[in-house]
Amino acid sequence: MTVLVAPKALANHTARDFKMLIDGRWEAGEGQPIERVAPSHGVVVSRYPAGTSADAERAIAAARRAFDHGPWPRMTASERSGVILKAAQLISARAEELAYLDAIEAGKPITQVRGEIAGAVDIWRYAAALARDLHGESYNTLGDSTLGVVLREAIGVVSIITPWNFPFLIVSQKLPFALAAGCTTVVKPSELTSGSTLLLGEILEEAGLPKGAVNIVTGTGPAVGAVMTAHPEVDMVSFTGSTGVGKLTMTNAAQTLKKVSLELGGKNPQIVFPDADLDAFIDAAVFGAYFNAGECCNAGSRLILHKSIAEDVVRRVAALARDVKVGDPLDPSTQVGAIITPQHLDKITAYLDGAAGAGARIAHGGEPLDFGMGQFMAPTILDGVTPGMAVAREEVFGPVLSVLTFETTAEAIEIANSIDYGLSAGVWSRDFDTCLTIGRRVRAGTVWMNTFMDGASELPFGGTKQSGLGRELGRHAVEDYTETKTLNMHIGARTS
Ligand code: NAD
Repeated sequence: MTVLVAPKALANHTARDFKMLIDGRWEAGEGQPIERVAPSHGVVVSRYPAGTSADAERAIAAARRAFDHGPWPRMTASERSGVILKAAQLISARAEELAYLDAIEAGKPITQVRGEIAGAVDIWRYAAALARDLHGESYNTLGDSTLGVVLREAIGVVSIITPWNFPFLIVSQKLPFALAAGCTTVVKPSELTSGSTLLLGEILEEAGLPKGAVNIVTGTGPAVGAVMTAHPEVDMVSFTGSTGVGKLTMTNAAQTLKKVSLELGGKNPQIVFPDADLDAFIDAAVFGAYFNAGECCNAGSRLILHKSIAEDVVRRVAALARDVKVGDPLDPSTQVGAIITPQHLDKITAYLDGAAGAGARIAHGGEPLDFGMGQFMAPTILDGVTPGMAVAREEVFGPVLSVLTFETTAEAIEIANSIDYGLSAGVWSRDFDTCLTIGRRVRAGTVWMNTFMDGASELPFGGTKQSGLGRELGRHAVEDYTETKTLNMHIGARTS
């Protein structure tokens, strides 16, 4: 059983025709636009230009001109900070419009997206503050005749490529920091959820960003993204998406040795010891697994439970999962929205079939939900999963929780570390030593202790192993978009 919130027909919605932004001009593009069908309602809600490789090249040329000759990199930090802060204010003022677009294009619950937009506003504000704190170092300790100055210079033109699962939040984890450093950019949102990024283009114009400093090209990965990752005039690629495309990005970037920042997939363990506060954990387990319909790099999709509590925990997680409200993303009571595409739903159910074939048991859910429109999936718990099964090792990217068990701490760590991903992890215990042992020995970019999926603009986020390279957010986020230059200055006559 699942609590169903049937989608209401979109009575007043007219499909919105978007344009892309190249060198300060809004362009409809050539050819048929890309139509976005709402995953919750099955009707076309947005149309984006189908950008081509030629569009990507023009956008890169515009960003190059804006970097080499335009005002943005030459402004004072205070001026750049002012534009970024103004953008934060305008995002806040248009929060509801942005939230609606992400909800309807991605099928995400509106209440959840409102939180994401508020989080994004905070990030833009934080980046505005960091813009004024970017500085290098000086060394007057190298002898009387030498002064060393280490500069932090904007790296140049940055390609920013984002996925569909957090359309506005993820571009906000990249763009304000690149701008704060003085970079110029070409942004490619996912071809499934481009609306809110295009709205951001309008916001940035209104905030006073000079033309060409941000270009937004819509379209597919092979048509637009491939050029953005390979082009010799691009200095850095900041990519969030699947590990497969992340590897392709790195290969393309290697041709001209561009810097890459990669935020990729995850299969994140939550390790639970018998002394844990189980009431708090059960709630976090359900939230961690079903937030954003499990279409979340950070999903806590692997429960690694101590054997002595496993049966009780599965029963209690299943009981809470029954109360999760699934359905209409526009209904404020909905907790789990739609699955991004029909093909993706097929992929999720294929994983469940494979797991059942390998001996796992469905403790809850396991079925798509039929509302007569869109595609939805019941929150699902798979019990009896073993470390070798595909559902224990691969990203299902749906509301599917796999339950594994352990007997010793060493075994829990081994299971947690046994896969290719290393994005995040959680540990639940009242014992400080247990939490710290897991915190130090599990390979992940973030380890939560007695909580899950909390974040803050100040805290770096990113993956180890095949979950990625580099970190976003935190005080070093701006530095990531810079190059270090050393000025070695000689004072007086040089003697050898
Ligand atoms: P994806 O890799 O299919 O696509 C991501 C972006 O890359 C899209 O804009 C897409 O058009 C583009 N792309 C596709 N082919 C390309 C190519 N050949 N060259 C350049 N660009 C190309 O990923 P997705 O399905 O949109 O997103 C889901 C994935 O993103 C999951 O694996 C998820 O874990 C990951 N993700 C990671 C994080 C993180 O912070 N680590 C956050 C969100 C999502």
